[in-house]
Amino acid sequence: MKNDNCIFCKIAAGEIPSKTLYEDEQFRVILDLGPAAKGHALILPKEHYANIYEIPDEVAASAMKLAKKMAGVITEKLNCDGFNIVQNNGVVAGQTVFHFHMHLIPRYEDDGQTIGWNPGEPTQEELEEIKNLITG
Ligand code: 5GP
Ligand code: ZN
Repeated sequence: MKNDNCIFCKIAAGEIPSKTLYEDEQFRVILDLGPAAKGHALILPKEHYANIYEIPDEVAASAMKLAKKMAGVITEKLNCDGFNIVQNNGVVAGQTVFHFHMHLIPRYEDDGQTIGWNPGEPTQEELEEIKNLITG
C-alpha cells in the first residue's frame, strides 16, 4: 500500500529522484540528504509502513539482511572505520519521516559525530522490576 502524502513512498517508487545505491522489488536504498557522515544511506521499503510496529516480519527480516549487505559494500567502497545502523520510531525517538526506514551511517575516526545517549544508573532492584514488567 502506498501513501499519497508520503515523500518516502514517492522516492521509493522513483516518482521523486534520489541518489539510489541499490534497488530491488521490495526496497530502494538512497543517500540521505542531510547525512551524519559521508555515505549515510537510508533503506526504504517500497510499501508504506509507518514504523517498526507496522512492518511485517518478513519485510523486517529482509531489511536487516539488506542492511548487512549494504554495510559491507559501503565499508569497502568508502573505507569507513565503523558503522551505525539506526532506526527511529515516533517523534520522541527522533523520527521525522513516518515511513519505516533504516539509517546506514558509516563512521570515520575524525567525523566529529556523536550518536548515543546519556547512560542511566539503575539499581539491580530497578532492573529487576523493569525485567518483570517486560517479561511478565
Ligand atoms: P528520521 O529522523 O525520520 O529517522 O530520518 C529521516 C531522514 O530522512 C533524515 O536523516 C533526513 O535527512 C532524511 N530525508 C528527509 N527528507 C529527505 C528527502 O527528501 N530525500 C532524502 N534523500 N533524504 C531525506
Ligand atoms: Zn510511505
